[in-house]
Amino acid sequence: MRSAEVAGVDTAIDHWIGGRRVGSPRTFSDLSPIDESHLASVARGGAEEASAAVSAAGDAFSSWGRTSREERAEVLYRIAEGIEGRIDELAAVETRDNGSLLRSNLRGLMPRSAYNFRFFADFLLELGYLKFDTRGHRNRVSHQPSGVTVLITPWNAPLMLATWKVAPALAAGNTVVLKPAEWSPLTASLLADITEEAGLPPGVLNVVQGYGEEAGAALVSDPRVSRISFTGSVETARLIGAAAGANLVPLSLELGGKSPLVVLEDADLEMAVEMAVEQYDNAGQVCLAATRLLVHQSLFDDFLDRFLAKAGDLVQGDPRSADTDLGPLISRAHLERVDGFVRRAVADGAHPVLGGGPNRELGGLYYRPTLFLGAPQGSEILTEEVFGPVLTLQSFTSDTEVVEQANSTRYGLAAGLVTGDPERAQRLSDQIVSGTTWVNCFYVRDLRAPFGGSRHSGIGREGGAYSFDFYCDLNNTVLGPGGWREETDYG
Ligand code: NAD
Repeated sequence: MRSAEVAGVDTAIDHWIGGRRVGSPRTFSDLSPIDESHLASVARGGAEEASAAVSAAGDAFSSWGRTSREERAEVLYRIAEGIEGRIDELAAVETRDNGSLLRSNLRGLMPRSAYNFRFFADFLLELGYLKFDTRGHRNRVSHQPSGVTVLITPWNAPLMLATWKVAPALAAGNTVVLKPAEWSPLTASLLADITEEAGLPPGVLNVVQGYGEEAGAALVSDPRVSRISFTGSVETARLIGAAAGANLVPLSLELGGKSPLVVLEDADLEMAVEMAVEQYDNAGQVCLAATRLLVHQSLFDDFLDRFLAKAGDLVQGDPRSADTDLGPLISRAHLERVDGFVRRAVADGAHPVLGGGPNRELGGLYYRPTLFLGAPQGSEILTEEVFGPVLTLQSFTSDTEVVEQANSTRYGLAAGLVTGDPERAQRLSDQIVSGTTWVNCFYVRDLRAPFGGSRHSGIGREGGAYSFDFYCDLNNTVLGPGGWREETDYG
């Protein structure tokens, strides 16, 4: 078995197929965004590895799909414990691999990855059957496993977003082929080890490494697959949607966003500024980030002064340091993409009052937190997702105007509101197109709630029963009133 030592952790760098490590003739170089150093030569899967993984998952489904809910819950609890036991290692590898803050991984994302399994184990044990009568006939609705699930995930929160899908898919009784992003392949590999230690049978979870257009494309077009769940960009979603459409496979899409943060004239200004600066988290590489700050005209100057003061205190640097607030971007190609948006925004007439380019002192992949004023309505910087530390600030004078501004993109993932009036908040929330609206808070997520986006931010919702239903085939068994042996208790 090939492995690489990353952040002091021995990490397998081959695929995980049918309960075995499997190599490929070719590899790809996994770089660390922290210093662009080479971390590992990871197996580069293609059609052959994808097909082998789907076969292994298909074989394993014949027994995993028949396990009881209790048996599956037991394994999921053990996986949660396995993650909890390795939080330090997982966090260290994740930070090295994708440049996210070590403290966020330690305190937030890794514990949540474990919680995703615990939640769906609890869910299985609490799940009942919907029952109702129709003219003396008894209906009983049950969730049946649907088969082999392909999960394709992005690099910005690799383990958290993978477990967010793997846990409900396994809970449903499905078997899984996971393809993590090529920019951050390592924690998915550690997850495979953890599931093995937890007693998940061979082939129930498979991990295929490689590029999207090779391994990913082969997986999503395999006709043996019963569900595809994807988190990533709109462009890739179109390709995956076409492949899923060809085989009529149900598809869940969690895509990008261009969320607004609306600050009303009765807002707690300190809270509003804090929430606005928080949008630079993970160097802006967060789908939910409210990158469009919409502030009532009466607060505009005050807000801007306080925002600049607070954002000026942000510490940029090595994500392993406890003092750092902003780490690097994921890759050189992404840094150039982000910089392209910034340069075009300037050409369109917007002007940066903060940042506006790479951090020349740090070099590497560090991009300075940026704020634009004066972006013309309809311009690219106000409508397209940058996925970097780039915000815009605009003013408004009425609720009608701000709803129009908030809804003026093709996205509808999230929105933030800061106001002292809960009724007005609900009224605005009802008018803003968004899967989640946070009022006087941000990034608070309960796994029971529906999560997802409208318009080009996605198709479907994940979380709790929404995820579970997606991975299952629903069956309604209708028992007629007659024809039973006398002693049968048919209720
Ligand atoms: P991406 O679309 O480039 O890649 C995502 C995944 O798709 C990767 O694993 C990649 O290898 C794979 N892929 C690429 N081409 C493929 C193909 N032809 N067939 C199958 N798989 C393919 O996205 P990214 O750059 O990794 O992630 C950033 C995007 O993800 C942003 O738009 C962000 O908003 C979005 N995102 C959304 C959410 C959400 O929950 N809505 C969460 C995180 C990220």
